[in-house]
Amino acid sequence: MTTAIYPGSFDPITYGHLDIIKRSSEVFDKVIVGVLKNQTKNPLFEFEERVEMIREVTKDYSNVEIASYHGLLVDFTKEMNADVIVRGIRAVSDFEYELMMAQTNKQLNPNIETMFFATSSRYSFLSSSTVRELAYFDGDITQFVPEYVSEKVYEKVKKMK
Ligand code: ADP
Repeated sequence: MTTAIYPGSFDPITYGHLDIIKRSSEVFDKVIVGVLKNQTKNPLFEFEERVEMIREVTKDYSNVEIASYHGLLVDFTKEMNADVIVRGIRAVSDFEYELMMAQTNKQLNPNIETMFFATSSRYSFLSSSTVRELAYFDGDITQFVPEYVSEKVYEKVKKMK
């Protein structure tokens, strides 16, 4: 049985993330979405809110679970008995950082492989930060995140203004 961890901040989860979750759930026996708790960045959504949104929009995937982590990703991966770390690559700009992380993690734990999923072309430009910014300026985010998430994002940015 192969278990994969898909780690990230998911602030908020987008169709780009969901695409990677769906595709990796078809490749691996189990996919654990690892939600980062100790963000140095100032997140738009509290950790619990991010988890709740992920739970709602992934509820139809029977082999997808959600877990939180803080500290080192390799430690979390080991703790969850996972074999693979999944990351998405959107552009060359993602690649440099992702390669460095994958090599560092391999050095820390040679038993864990990092596997990259190439973004689907229709989501290649999409990021959580784009969604946050668009929503803040009243742009249409409904094509980038599920309706459940877009409602929460609009609600949240409204409170910030
Ligand atoms: P992090 O802060 O760790 O980068 P993110 O939530 O921004 O967390 O992203 C988690 C993972 O999802 C990363 O591997 C990122 O490259 C990938 N990802 C984000 N958006 C997309 C997208 N539109 N298409 C493919 N992969 C994506």
